[in-house]
Amino acid sequence: MKIVLINPPNCGRSIPEEEFGITSLKMIFRGEPLALEVLAGNLPGHEVQIVDLKAEPDGLYALLAEEVCPDVVGFTSVTCEANTVIKLCEKIKGAYARPPIIVVGGHHASSDPGYFHRPVIDYVIVGLGKLTFRLLVDALVEGGGPPDIPGVLRVRPGGPLTPSLRKYSFEDLVDDQPPRYDLVRGHRDKYVMSGVGGRAGFVATAFGCTHCCSFCSIPSMTGGRYLGHSVEAIIRDIGMLADIPLIRFVDANTFGDPATAKLLAEKILQLGIEKKIVADVRADTVVANPELMRLWHEAGLAAVVIGFEEIDDVRLARMNKRSSLDKNIAALHILAEIGIRVIGDFIISPDYDHADFERLARFIDRSPIALPIPSILTPIPGTPLYKQLAAELEITDLDYYTFSNAVLPTRLAKKEFYALYSDLMKHLHQHLTKS
Ligand code: SF4
Repeated sequence: MKIVLINPPNCGRSIPEEEFGITSLKMIFRGEPLALEVLAGNLPGHEVQIVDLKAEPDGLYALLAEEVCPDVVGFTSVTCEANTVIKLCEKIKGAYARPPIIVVGGHHASSDPGYFHRPVIDYVIVGLGKLTFRLLVDALVEGGGPPDIPGVLRVRPGGPLTPSLRKYSFEDLVDDQPPRYDLVRGHRDKYVMSGVGGRAGFVATAFGCTHCCSFCSIPSMTGGRYLGHSVEAIIRDIGMLADIPLIRFVDANTFGDPATAKLLAEKILQLGIEKKIVADVRADTVVANPELMRLWHEAGLAAVVIGFEEIDDVRLARMNKRSSLDKNIAALHILAEIGIRVIGDFIISPDYDHADFERLARFIDRSPIALPIPSILTPIPGTPLYKQLAAELEITDLDYYTFSNAVLPTRLAKKEFYALYSDLMKHLHQHLTKS
């Protein structure tokens, strides 16, 4: 089969820009489409192509100009890309006399599959798709009726799109099949982590999370389970990125299983792999495992991304973060002492007032955080936070779910809220140039 996997372009809209002329708050997502490379890795025997519209914005025209129509087109999408993906599906369906089968997966499909109940979409994949997409392709090759694969939903006109109960396990990782890094080789120079170390290659060490923060859509990808790749598979994938100096572990909680994380660091050291590594870690994991962080520093860990989210315990508890301000501060001290740089995520609640913005700026100024990244609290459909706040949403157009728009009512007038947010970003930029 000819299978084309498409990474949607950078999209999403900005209220600060559209309504108040503040142009500095638009989020741009960069990096290779690892989720699609992973899917492609489990499709041996098929002709697979990845079209990365973030790296190659005109890629769709080139695809539609090709003589041979694909048999299957697959999309991945996060929430702010969902509408764009639907428009692209319409374009593709309308472009061919015998249109391809269209499949949509990824974060938004997993947390809100019903959103893709559209006539132009044939299947929606919920959760990890490396195994289930392969099973779907096999079933399509065999022909016959729509297959009954847990996690693969057939879109039927007029009918409901009912997620089937699905169990996740290590089998879903198809550990022995590496990602098809070769399919995006032509764009390698565009995959960079500016501010951290230039050209970067992505490696997944695990999926899901050990926690369930109310705002986060990661747990829905694995039904709440935390599933790790084998040390051998991770070493294999790092080895495939031989000429890339910086490895970004893209899993949201790389050290969720400290025992395996220790084995991996030891293996990297034993093999003499010399890479700069960036990974996500929880603050409480750092506090509980300072020696592990020291070992990882030796193994190349240059920077970590930590979701600090808030600077007071009441708000942290509201998010079900299961950590505390004390632990966040303790983690910063441990990492500073070891020499690991910190990229810190913060979440600005719509009830922030002047004092809250000032307090956050002061906290960051006093903290050894190399790159602070504040975003606005956004209830992503399918998350516990969304269930809690859906009735209060002021904006439901998913184009605005970029984490830089207030989709909930703000305590301050909108203009004032965005002006303070913009001032904070400028202030942090100065912090960045000083550090
Ligand atoms: S925010 Fe981080 S710790 Fe919380 S559920 Fe998501 S990935 Fe896990």
